[in-house]
Amino acid sequence: MCENPLRALPKMDVLLSHPTLLAARKVLPYALIRQAARGRLEEVRRSVVNGAAVPPVDVLAGEIAAAAGALCRPGLRKVINATGVVLHTNLGRAPLAHRAAEAVREAAEGYSNLEYDLDNACRGSRHSHVESLLCSLTGAEAAMAVNNNAAAVFLMLSALAAGKGVAVSRGELVEIGGAFRVPEIMAASGALLREVGTTNKTRSSDYERVLLSQEAQALLKVHTSNYQIVGFTEDTPLSQLAGLAAAHSVPLLCDLGSCVLSSQSLPALPAAPSAAAALADGADVVCFSGDKLLGGPQAGIVLGKKQYIDAMKRHPLARVVRIDKLSLAALEATLLLLRDPEGAREALPVLSMLNAPPDDLHRRAEELAAGLGHALGTAYTVSVLPCAGQVGGGSMPNEELPGFCAAVTDGPGVPEDLEAHFRRHAVPILCRIHRGALLLDVRTLTEEDAAEILRAAEAVRGTRL
Ligand SMILES: *Cc1c(COP(=O)(O)O)cnc(C)c1O
Repeated sequence: MCENPLRALPKMDVLLSHPTLLAARKVLPYALIRQAARGRLEEVRRSVVNGAAVPPVDVLAGEIAAAAGALCRPGLRKVINATGVVLHTNLGRAPLAHRAAEAVREAAEGYSNLEYDLDNACRGSRHSHVESLLCSLTGAEAAMAVNNNAAAVFLMLSALAAGKGVAVSRGELVEIGGAFRVPEIMAASGALLREVGTTNKTRSSDYERVLLSQEAQALLKVHTSNYQIVGFTEDTPLSQLAGLAAAHSVPLLCDLGSCVLSSQSLPALPAAPSAAAALADGADVVCFSGDKLLGGPQAGIVLGKKQYIDAMKRHPLARVVRIDKLSLAALEATLLLLRDPEGAREALPVLSMLNAPPDDLHRRAEELAAGLGHALGTAYTVSVLPCAGQVGGGSMPNEELPGFCAAVTDGPGVPEDLEAHFRRHAVPILCRIHRGALLLDVRTLTEEDAAEILRAAEAVRGTRL
C-alpha cells in the first residue's frame, strides 16, 4: 500500500460547501473565502509532501474561515496604549480631539472649499484655513502647514538657504527616528552646513565668526528633542542668536520639533518649548510637528516673517510636501479648540493626558486594579504602583510624568504570556513589563479602553497561560 498521500486532501468544492464555510459566506465575501481556502490547501499540500498528515476537514474549515476573516480586517487598526507614553511614535503619536476627528469625517465624505474662495467665487488657497488662526494664536506674521515637520524643515532650507552657508551648533546635529538627520536633510536641500562650536559648548562668538567670514548666510537652531547634553555645557539662547542674525541681516531659522503654541496649554510641563516664545525671542521662521505636543494631526507647521513664508509658499517643493485635506481639517479644528486654553486642556487628549493630576491617575489606577483583580481571579496578584509616564515622540526625554499604574505582579503567565495575551486581544492592548510585573499605565487610557482591558482579562480564565 503506497497510496499517494495527497489523495487525502479534501477537494476545493467539498471544502467550500462545509457547513462552517457556508455559514461564513453570510458575513464574508465568497471571493475571500475561496482565496483563503486556496492558500490553506496549498500550505497543507506542501506539509503533506514533507510527510505531515492531512488535518481533519472540520479543522481546515475553521482555519479557512478565520483566515478569510483576517483578509477582511484592515491591517492598520485601533490599539490600546497602556504604556503611559503619550506621544508614542509607533502607536500613531497624538490621538485627535473628538471635534478634530469629526472635521476629518466631514471633509472626507464630501466636497469642501479646500481651495475655493466662497466670498469671491474664485480659486482660494488651502493655507487660508489655518493661517490666520496660527497667527492669532502665536503672534506670527504669516504661517503655512505642510505634510510633516521633516517636510517643513526641508522646504524651509530649500526655499531660504539653498546654496547658502547655514551655521548650526555641533551639539544640535540631531537624528530623529532613523532617517531624519540634520546634516543629511541639509545636504538634500542644497544648504551648506557650517558646523560651529563643539558638542557640549557653542557660544555666540562661534556663530559670529562664520558670519563675519561670510561662510554662513543663515543661522539654524535645532531643538535637541530626543536627547540632552548635561554636565559642562553652554548653549547660545535664541534671543542672543536673534541679535546676531539681525546685526548681520541673515535669517534665523528654528526647528522646534515638538512644541506648544503658547505656554498656557501645558501647565504640567512649564519647560515645554513654545512657538510664541521662539518668535518673541526673535526667530524669523520656526517649524514644528502638528502631532507632537500640539496634539493635532500629522503636519508640519511653519510660522514667521511674511517675506520668508511667502518664499516657502512659492517654492516648487511646496506642492510636493503639501498638507492633505483630511489633516488640514483636523488641524483647523485643533487650532479652533486651542483658542480657549482651559477648554483645550479638556478637549485635546494629549493635553489632558499630560496635565492629568496625580490624584486623578491614582483613583483610576485603583479602579482598574480592582477590576483586573476581579476579572483575572484569585490566581493573580494585582496592585497599584507609582510609575513614570513619558511625553514620547522624541519630546522632552528627561521629563518624567509622575503617575500610577495597575500592576499584575504575580500569577500564571506573568509577565510574558499575559503581555502576549493582551497584545493578541481583539483590540490589541500594549503594556509594559518592568521587573517581572505587567504594568498598565492609566494616563494613556480612556474609560472605554479600561472596559476593554477588563474584557481581555476575563478571557484569560478560558485560556491556559
Ligand atoms: C520630530 C522632529 C522632526 C520631525 O518631525 P515629523 O513631524 O516627525 O516629520 C524634526 N525635527 C525635530 C527637532 C523633531 O523633534
